[in-house]
Amino acid sequence: MPQAQLMDGAGLARQILEETARRAADLKDRTGVAPCLATVLVGEDPASVTYVRMKRNRSRAAGIESRHVALPADTTTTELVAELTALSADPAVHGILLQHPVGPHVDERAAFEAIAPRKDVDGVTLSSYAAMSFGLPGFVSCTPGGIMRLLDAYDVGLAGKRAVVVGRSAILGKPVGMLLLGRDATVTYCHSRTAGLSCVLREADIVVAAVGSPRLIRGEDIRPGAVVIDAGYNAGNVGDVDFDSAVTRAGLITPVPGGVGPMTIAVLLEQTVTGAEHALGV
Ligand code: NAP
Repeated sequence: MPQAQLMDGAGLARQILEETARRAADLKDRTGVAPCLATVLVGEDPASVTYVRMKRNRSRAAGIESRHVALPADTTTTELVAELTALSADPAVHGILLQHPVGPHVDERAAFEAIAPRKDVDGVTLSSYAAMSFGLPGFVSCTPGGIMRLLDAYDVGLAGKRAVVVGRSAILGKPVGMLLLGRDATVTYCHSRTAGLSCVLREADIVVAAVGSPRLIRGEDIRPGAVVIDAGYNAGNVGDVDFDSAVTRAGLITPVPGGVGPMTIAVLLEQTVTGAEHALGV
């Protein structure tokens, strides 16, 4: 059986974090100011608490200051917007991450829009999305940005390639499709209403799975030699792709864990340092 080459997201993320730490130290040397990432968490959802803790630990390890704002679960939209507006105006803060989902009683879009685009290092504002879609400078959504970095690290040619993105969420599926389109791939989006998903997938040179449905995509759906990016992360460390069958068909494939996952934090922290460099004129 042929075996696809694994795309080592953990290794690439380590490299990006090392370079990010070097840039953060250089900025501190030159300006006396360390980059600062503010994390905002509403409530105490255990998964969100863990994600924020990981992001804060990685920040500090990279020489990025971490400021944390923990808000009670019953925080209103108005209160959250006020908090984010204050962080947006605070010159000591260079990046803002609102951990989401924030709970059904909060208008998440209103909260995101309170983040100044120049500090939107998680790429969640309409302004960041528009800039990314138009190919203009700005911060990209972190997981899609990480996927593009992985494709580039493995010299995957994109121009003219048929890319199928399964999933169309605002933070993952839609933006990764726009980034692929911006690099001249021919992009097809699939979603829960797509008819004949397998047929669409079999035409793909590049598959991006961004669904949240364990092992939805099987090896027989993969065109031999295709590049398979599995952004899914489901209970039991399982992706959206059935790895064991897909690895025998794909040319390149991301493992879960250790593929797309580690890239997200790496891009978040890299963008935080970029935000600080811009703010400090370096
Ligand atoms: P989401 O908001 O729930 O979106 C899921 C998408 O999948 C929707 O567009 C949905 O279609 C589509 N979908 C659902 N069932 C489908 C099916 N049977 N066939 C085709 N499409 C289907 O999820 P998300 O936030 O984008 O996350 C997706 C996955 O990525 C999750 O496993 C999540 O944990 C993971 N993730 C990983 C990272 C990371 O750092 N590695 C970051 C973010 C997310 P509709 O639009 O029609 O409902």
